[in-house]
Amino acid sequence: MAQILVLGGNFAGLTSALETKRRLRGDRHEVTVISKVDHFLYIPSLIWVPFKERDISDIKVPIEPVLKRAGVNFIRETALKIDPFASKVTTDAHHSYHYDFLVIATGSDLDYSLPGSDPTLGNNTYFGTPSGAITIRNQFFQLVDNPGPVIIGATPKAGYIGAAYEFLFNLEYHMKRRGIRREVPIVWVTPEPYLGHLGVEGVFGGTTSLKLFMHSRSISFRTNATITSIDKEKVTLSSGEVLESAFTMIMPPFLGQEVIRNSPGLGDLRGFIPVQATYQHKDFSNIFAAGVAANAALNRSNSIPCEIPKTGFQAQMEAHIVAENISRVINHRTDLRQKPFCEIPGLCIMDAGHKEVLIYANHLLRPRQFSIFLPNPIYDFSKRTLEKYFLWKTRNGFAQLP
Ligand SMILES: Cc1cc2nc3c(=O)[nH]c(=O)nc-3n(C[C@H](O)[C@H](O)[C@H](O)COP(=O)(O)OP(=O)(O)OC[C@H]3O[C@@H](n4cnc5c(N)ncnc54)[C@H](O)[C@@H]3O)c2cc1C
Repeated sequence: MAQILVLGGNFAGLTSALETKRRLRGDRHEVTVISKVDHFLYIPSLIWVPFKERDISDIKVPIEPVLKRAGVNFIRETALKIDPFASKVTTDAHHSYHYDFLVIATGSDLDYSLPGSDPTLGNNTYFGTPSGAITIRNQFFQLVDNPGPVIIGATPKAGYIGAAYEFLFNLEYHMKRRGIRREVPIVWVTPEPYLGHLGVEGVFGGTTSLKLFMHSRSISFRTNATITSIDKEKVTLSSGEVLESAFTMIMPPFLGQEVIRNSPGLGDLRGFIPVQATYQHKDFSNIFAAGVAANAALNRSNSIPCEIPKTGFQAQMEAHIVAENISRVINHRTDLRQKPFCEIPGLCIMDAGHKEVLIYANHLLRPRQFSIFLPNPIYDFSKRTLEKYFLWKTRNGFAQLP
């Protein structure tokens, strides 16, 4: 009987666990999820929390009942260290768990080493965590009462720059709705060499559309920008330019979770798991990684000026490959499924402030045959429908659905 341990219970972790269990159904193998939180969080909807369009409770699903129904064990603990040589994980509850197969799906941590960027200093807030989204909600309503210049942007290693664009357009929309837009100059500061690079070397129509969006909404922008510090009322760029700010939201660099950085021999320099096209660790064949925790673009990251984004769609696709490969190894097969990261399709819906954009690329990175940035100027219907579908699918444990 094999022990399969999954660290993390969100997009990649939940799907890996449920799919591994489903594929091994009838066998006596045990699948266990260890997660530091007891719920699934639909992260894409965090962009709506600051504007009271969602509460955190609307986008959370408790995972223990979902896993229990599927016959998967759940342990709410934080993994602190992985010993890949002894096949063992230790947690904050001083427990030690042995595994035959380990799936690392712990997503990413945030790096606030940029001077002045740490949210506890009060100069900068990032909306991509539940607490950050709630803090921004308070700050947004203070801004409505006391308008001033706004700086929105991302650092070069920010992991999902598309979400920072979404936040920008939603903020602009809500300022307009509350009648303060004319009093608030907005500057978008991005490490991208051009608007719409998005960490994927652009998609067809992206740059033109985003320039139009910026122009029609009177948002000025700085591309190729590196921020050197964030202070109470200003953001300083490496060019020497100082931008005045009453409200700053800069997406920080992403880095691997502490558990990876604390586990010698496991992660790359930034704490992500180097994996092959089978999503197996490059040195330990019984360790798999999926989602943001996995670094599958081993030869590409240095040539790209901003971080390659990982969507929920990709995280799940990788989780399916992991589940399939674990069941193949257990069944003594050697023909493991392979999908080079760069060839996974890029698919996401961007909310552009009650308008939306469908972004599709047949391969996430070039070379590719087809890509499109398709605005829908009427309403953001698809993104809201996708949220409902995803929460329904998660509540019911239907990980096999797309
Ligand atoms: C603000 C924002 C907006 C986004 N919008 C979109 C979008 O519109 N569409 C889209 O497709 N993608 C979007 N994404 C990307 C998407 O959220 C990620 O691709 C997805 O969350 C990756 O899933 P994951 O399971 O790899 O990591 P995560 O979702 O980050 O999950 C990691 C899990 O591991 C747990 N964990 C961490 N460390 C430990 C530990 N030591 N021990 C135990 N458990 C641990 C965490 O608590 C968490 O539950 C967005 C991302 C952000 C940040």
